Amino acid sequence: AHTEAAPRIRKLSTALVNKIAAGEVIERPASVVKELLENAIDAGATRIDIECQQGGAELIRIVDDGCGIHPEDIELAITAHATSKLADADDLFRVQTMGFRGEALASISEVSSFRLRTRPADLEMGTEITVEGGVMTAPRPCGAPAGTQIDVRQLFLNTPVRRKFLKSQATEFAHISEQFTRLSLAQPRIHFTLRHNDKLVFELPAVDDLGDRIEQVFGTELRGRMIPIEGDQAGLRLWGFTGHPDESRATRKAQYLFVNGRWIQDRTVQHALTEAYRGLMMVGRQPVCFLFLEVPPDEVDVNVHPTKAEVRFVDPQRLYRLVLSSIRRKFLGLNFESPLQPTA
Ligand code: ADP
Ligand code: MG
Repeated sequence: AHTEAAPRIRKLSTALVNKIAAGEVIERPASVVKELLENAIDAGATRIDIECQQGGAELIRIVDDGCGIHPEDIELAITAHATSKLADADDLFRVQTMGFRGEALASISEVSSFRLRTRPADLEMGTEITVEGGVMTAPRPCGAPAGTQIDVRQLFLNTPVRRKFLKSQATEFAHISEQFTRLSLAQPRIHFTLRHNDKLVFELPAVDDLGDRIEQVFGTELRGRMIPIEGDQAGLRLWGFTGHPDESRATRKAQYLFVNGRWIQDRTVQHALTEAYRGLMMVGRQPVCFLFLEVPPDEVDVNVHPTKAEVRFVDPQRLYRLVLSSIRRKFLGLNFESPLQPTA
């Protein structure tokens, strides 16, 4: 038997708690881009500009023209578990915003050299706050355009192991670019730009619909290979595009799925896609698709994964049938022997 005194229990410091949370949510520069982009979208921005240096390891800067933060709330904004997006437990089951945990800014500012500048449109003066490796300065007034600008420099400066595990600039930027692609597909009405090492990589002016955004990001040719689909089943709604069967890929990376506007990965939908293309595509090859699923908030739990990349459906079978039948129904009416008709 154990013969010594029981070890005493201590509460972790806020700084340590934030660092642990950062480990879950902020894996690499692309995670910062995702969180900050989601915040800008939640803020109602119509234009979002992103600038990265050295794969995001040196600098990630996001500028939006959204609602800004009230000067008296700035410290709260970077405090853990503080959010303007959830008021009570009921809200948790009908989340409309991308964020809601109040964790991102606390985590990011804990592991970087962080500066936030913001001004709500109805105020004349902006406010600035900096956090250096978790140490916050008092907010001070500054000149700023309406909206919010966040600079994240030297990511993981105080978590050397994490910094060491960063991959090459090109790899880190590829992850950033992928996060950017997902969010920009979900928000065609927002004007986005993405720069890397002072080079303009994407310039996506606001457009009316998904088809136009697909064309901006992936080119006219791919857009011409996409077939519009839609379907309804007992409260679930599916819409978007699925690729011509001879437009195939080696991986599922070009299968974009969004649930209530949020990019996710989902096994059920993957299986339904495989089934829908059975006999039309070589085994092992993957179709391209851009699928948007609208689900009543009480039929999907988005609170199961720290980065919300997976969700849980109350009735996955219904989802499976909806995806399968919407695609199959469309394919029945098409003759794949002849060239695709334009899909205006
Ligand atoms: P969450 O998004 O889960 O609420 P965050 O840590 O990402 O948590 O942000 C905390 C709060 O800071 C948000 O609830 C929001 O009120 C405010 N905020 C963050 N980014 C922005 C932004 N770009 N524009 C306006 N407000 C913002
Ligand atoms: Mg957030």
